[in-house]
Amino acid sequence: MNLPDPAVDVSGAVEIASDVLVIPNNDVALVPNIGVVAGSEAVLVVDTGLGVANASRVLEFASEVARGRRLYLTTTHFHPEHAFGASVFAGSYVVNRAQAEDLRRKGSGYLEMFRGFGGAIADRLAGAEVPVPDVVFDGVHSLDLGGRTVLLRPTGRGHTLGDQVIEVPDAGVLFTGDLAETGQFAIFPWFPPHDTDVSGVSWIEVMDRLIEAGPRVVVPGHGTTGGREVLEGVRDYLRELRDETWRRRDSADVVAEVRAVLVERHPEWAGREWIDLGVGCLCAELYSFSVD
Ligand SMILES: [Zn+2]
Repeated sequence: MNLPDPAVDVSGAVEIASDVLVIPNNDVALVPNIGVVAGSEAVLVVDTGLGVANASRVLEFASEVARGRRLYLTTTHFHPEHAFGASVFAGSYVVNRAQAEDLRRKGSGYLEMFRGFGGAIADRLAGAEVPVPDVVFDGVHSLDLGGRTVLLRPTGRGHTLGDQVIEVPDAGVLFTGDLAETGQFAIFPWFPPHDTDVSGVSWIEVMDRLIEAGPRVVVPGHGTTGGREVLEGVRDYLRELRDETWRRRDSADVVAEVRAVLVERHPEWAGREWIDLGVGCLCAELYSFSVD
């Protein structure tokens, strides 16, 4: 695999709402959108980028924003480009219980898998460790940044078991992590037998709830910040993927057929390989429903 260097470029940071900054991923593979949310007393960073050097740039940038205010880090989910630089934020890393479990159970396997991609990805992970959270919470966590309270809300199983979204209620901003992407097919980390935690069925339910909550600004894990239509686009695609897969349950070549239909409907989207994994996931879920 020959992927470009997943370098976080902090120079492109944009203010999407008052004291809410996004370091955009500029459509570079394995670079997430990174959030910096400031209150009068503290600043919260959302996701780290892949590896220690990226996270150090993010820390430097956030420290400039914070000017002595306290820093916190949280991550949307445990995948390496979102969380595997957390060690540079030592002492300030806060996550939900299910995500901490993902890190503990699957972190080292993902570190090995990503190192196996070679090239710039492996270089970025030299010296990286599986992150160990400083604070693990149950339920919804309210983080008081001073004049602004941010909510860290676990969603239940979707893109991973431990997904959480970050809400900035006073600004109507929602950080989704990889529950949402734009300009590409939804990322299904369906890697049997090692990781089969992604669920297309519950992911759709998660998206319905996020849409109902009515955020004004949506920052996807990868792609372009927008409004509620970002969430609706993903939800509609997931429904298409489910319906096109399940209606071909008896076909010998369901993967190729679904892929052809969805590529025709979304010819401009990247990440076509995720369609195949999504079909695999939804086939398994269909089977598990029919035998229950
Ligand atoms: Zn992910």
